[in-house]
Amino acid sequence: MVTLSSIIRPVGRLLHRQLSRQGKGQRLVPVRRCNLTACSSKYVLSHMHPMWQEPLAIPGGDRQSPIDIVVRKSLFDPHLKPLVPAYDPQTCQQIWNNGYSFLVEYDDTTDKSTLKGGPLEDQFRLCQFHFHWGESNAWGSEHTVDRKLFPAELHIVHWNTEKYDLFEEAVMEENGLAVIGVFLKIGKRHEGLQKLVDALPAVRHKDSTVDFERFDPACLLPSNINDYWTYHGSLTTPPLTEAVTWIVMKQHIEVSHDQLAVFRSLLFTSAEEEVQKGMVNNFRVQQPLRGRPIRSSFSPFLTGDEPAL
Ligand SMILES: [Zn+2]
Repeated sequence: MVTLSSIIRPVGRLLHRQLSRQGKGQRLVPVRRCNLTACSSKYVLSHMHPMWQEPLAIPGGDRQSPIDIVVRKSLFDPHLKPLVPAYDPQTCQQIWNNGYSFLVEYDDTTDKSTLKGGPLEDQFRLCQFHFHWGESNAWGSEHTVDRKLFPAELHIVHWNTEKYDLFEEAVMEENGLAVIGVFLKIGKRHEGLQKLVDALPAVRHKDSTVDFERFDPACLLPSNINDYWTYHGSLTTPPLTEAVTWIVMKQHIEVSHDQLAVFRSLLFTSAEEEVQKGMVNNFRVQQPLRGRPIRSSFSPFLTGDEPAL
C-alpha cells in the first residue's frame, strides 16, 4: 500500500536539496507550468510568457500563491507585531544556480539566523533567499499590489524550528515556513546587493555553485519592515505545499537596471546543453484568493503615509 508519507517524504527530501542546499546527484527540476485560467492577468501573461501556457502539473489547493494583493480589501490588524529578523552573516555559505533561480544558502543547523515577530508565533530559521524576475522591467514579480507588477521579487525563506526538526517536515506541514517577500523596482544601484551581483557570473550555468560568505540578507530589506501584508499561502515552486506564512513588504527596494541585467545573464541550462536559455520570467502566475483574508500591519487611513508603490 502506498502511504501518503511514503510519497511526501521523498518529495520533501528533493525539495530540501532544491531549495535549501546543494545535494548530491540528481535534483528535482522545478516545473515551469501553471493553469492560466487561475491567473488574474491571464490575457497579458498568455501572450508574454510561453513558459506558463501548459496546464498545472500539480493538484492545486485552496491556498496557493502568489496572489494579487487588493489594498482596499486587506484588513488592518492592530495586533500584528513588528517583524524581528536576526541574521548572522557568518551563516551564509554559497550561491547555487538550481536551473530556475539562484539560491543564496545559509547554514540552518543552528539558531544563529532567525526570524520571529510579525504574524509569527514561533521562531523560524533562515535557510535561503532567492529572486524571481522578468525579461523586461515591465514584469517579473510573483505577487502584485492592485495588479501592479514589479520587475523582480525577493523571497527570504525560513522554517519553523519550534514545531519541526527538519526542513523536510516543515515544508509539508501547516505553519512550517515563513517567507518574506520584497518587491524590487528600478532606480538607484543597491550597494548591499552589489556583492552578490559581482559573484553571479560564477553561477551562470544550471547546477553551478560558488562559495559565498558573510552576506547579511537584512541589507536587502526595505528601511521600514513594520508595514507589511500577511496571508496563508503556498510555495510557488513544486511541491507547491500550502505551508507558507507570507509576509510581503509594503515598501520596495531599488536596484539598478544594470544589476537586474546580471540576473538576466544567468542561464536555465547547464554548460553541456547545446541550446542555452536565458534565466528570465522565472515566476509562477497568480492563483485565486478563494476568500482568504489578507491582513495588513498598517492602516493608511491612520498613518497618512503615502503608499510606497
Ligand atoms: Zn520564490
